[in-house]
Amino acid sequence: MRIEEELKLDFKDVLFRPKRSTLGSRAKVDLVREYTYRHSHATSKSIPIIAANMDTVGTFEMASALGKHGMHVALHKHYGVDDYAKFFNASNATTHAHAFYSLGILDHDLEKFKQVRNHTGDEIKFVCIDVANGYTETFIDFVKKFRDLFPTITIMAGNVVTADITEALILAGADIVKVGIGPGSVCTTRKMTGVGYPQLSAIIECADAAHGLGGHICGDGGCTVPGDVAKAFGGGADFVMLGGMLAAHDESGGEIVQKDGKTYRKFYGMSSDVAMEKYAGGVAKYRASEGKEVLLPARGPIENTVQEVLGGLRSTCTYVGARKLKDLSKCTTFVRVSQQINEVYGRAQ
Ligand code: 5GP
Repeated sequence: MRIEEELKLDFKDVLFRPKRSTLGSRAKVDLVREYTYRHSHATSKSIPIIAANMDTVGTFEMASALGKHGMHVALHKHYGVDDYAKFFNASNATTHAHAFYSLGILDHDLEKFKQVRNHTGDEIKFVCIDVANGYTETFIDFVKKFRDLFPTITIMAGNVVTADITEALILAGADIVKVGIGPGSVCTTRKMTGVGYPQLSAIIECADAAHGLGGHICGDGGCTVPGDVAKAFGGGADFVMLGGMLAAHDESGGEIVQKDGKTYRKFYGMSSDVAMEKYAGGVAKYRASEGKEVLLPARGPIENTVQEVLGGLRSTCTYVGARKLKDLSKCTTFVRVSQQINEVYGRAQ
């Protein structure tokens, strides 16, 4: 047994230190980032925020709403082949240009992808190869295999939280490594297994490893407010993936429930009992569910939330003197704190 004594940080442990700047208005801050990917050699130009590949977040409707802002969606993996084909063949490119096709690492996942691709040709530019535990050899082998099969597709793969395996994944063929084990809003991995890593430190360490190899990372999970999204970028994330913050909107999917005259939407983890009942015929005997279900007050159209997140991010940039999102991590000094928010009137959102 070993103990790592070095302090590791979560979003709640830091704040940005404001800095003098000559920036005029926050409206001038440019959130668009251009990337060239290490293996696919493709380039992208987008606001690098991704809706999570959960069936209560990463929907076709979310893709078109976020696509208008040049943001991304990782589609959940439970649509049928025809539905994906229709989506990726849609003539309105803003809808699908930035969408990730998500898949697991089983034979049928690859088969399904090949079927969709037969209908869509090269329209699928990004894939998200997604497993709960990115530390297995089978996963890394799958990434290698996928890279060999599809040299020009940009691959995001995860989830992991440490530098060693980030490097291994990039060397295996991933362009973007997805970072986060246990921070998610409907995730119970830490409770069920005791496994995890404070999310901000995971981002900082994995970004450093990935950037050294010309790779990119996506911070996935744990953002609860726009300030957390800014902290993830400040820590070096190239992309940030959001689940809970984008859930319960008109575009999110998730069953509508009426209770005491109020409207709610169901939101649940993709490894929760609910999701496994729905898609896998129940929780397999050898495993425990690692996600939960919550009922969230319905939040209306996603547009307001998008404005809030992008507005918050622009404002962070002006506070630290970053003209563009690209400069945010360079301009970031985090201060460690023991208190974030004054909660005298309840938890301020
Ligand atoms: P959030 O933004 O809601 O904090 O986190 C979203 C992320 O939580 C997703 O992108 C995914 O990585 C993770 N996640 C989604 N469902 C589950 C689940 O059932 N179990 C676990 N451990 N993580 C989940």
